[in-house]
Amino acid sequence: MADSEAHSTDNGSAAPDSRRRRTRQGRTRAARCPTPSDDPSRRVMAPFPCSGTAPTAPMRGNIDHHRHHCRPPEREPTDGRRLHRPRRRSVALTFDDGPDPQAAPRLLEVLRKHHVRAVLCLWGDHVREHPEVVREIVRDGHEPGNHSLHHDDMSAWTPERIRADLKQTGALIHQAASGAPVRWFRAPYGSWGRSPEVAAGLDMRPLGRRLAVGDREPPGTDELVRRLREGTTPGAVVLLHDGGGDRRQTVEAVDRIIPEFRAAGRRFDMPARRA
Ligand SMILES: [Zn+2]
Repeated sequence: MADSEAHSTDNGSAAPDSRRRRTRQGRTRAARCPTPSDDPSRRVMAPFPCSGTAPTAPMRGNIDHHRHHCRPPEREPTDGRRLHRPRRRSVALTFDDGPDPQAAPRLLEVLRKHHVRAVLCLWGDHVREHPEVVREIVRDGHEPGNHSLHHDDMSAWTPERIRADLKQTGALIHQAASGAPVRWFRAPYGSWGRSPEVAAGLDMRPLGRRLAVGDREPPGTDELVRRLREGTTPGAVVLLHDGGGDRRQTVEAVDRIIPEFRAAGRRFDMPARRA
């Protein structure tokens, strides 16, 4: 099963240690009240088989609320670790759930044409089935990310179990593309649980996202372009999917939005590596 995060922005979803800001008097205060999404114990898991994240805060711009309804937002780790974002004003494209033998080559062709590098978060199972696609990803200068072995919800897993899964997934990526840097980990469904600390112990950084455009259930290329245009803010990590279904619309939308953003003075970059 693949990610199907609702398209949404991460209003106020910075990690807890960044939620306090200094007032003119030098005191700190909470920038906002905690929401249920901040406290794992208050999350309610809806009984839907898919995994969209329902936005809990008003959307920026004119983006419609997505019809997704499944899991509550858990886009950022809850242990205080900050997720990584691209440099200010640039945009980072990330693609989950591949490698897919149909979608990935088309996507890579588009990224190649526009000279854009991206992070592709890969399932171990798919890596095992399509190692040649992993090699193509790496050959083109993109970074493969670790997206777990079977795309399980790890939120209740022990660190030991998470570690075993992540190590196995990383080994599969390295088997497919020896020497490939695997610097990023993204938890399936945004269900981070203990995974950020485990990933850090394996020299990977948790990769969040500011915008998920809801391409899991393709809404039409025009609609995807609109969501990207209206929802992508400076410094955003944008989550798209190149696996888990028919991704032609995603690829077409990316092909259209890159020149549009460039014409507007936006740059594309990898996520920032600093904490
Ligand atoms: Zn996923």
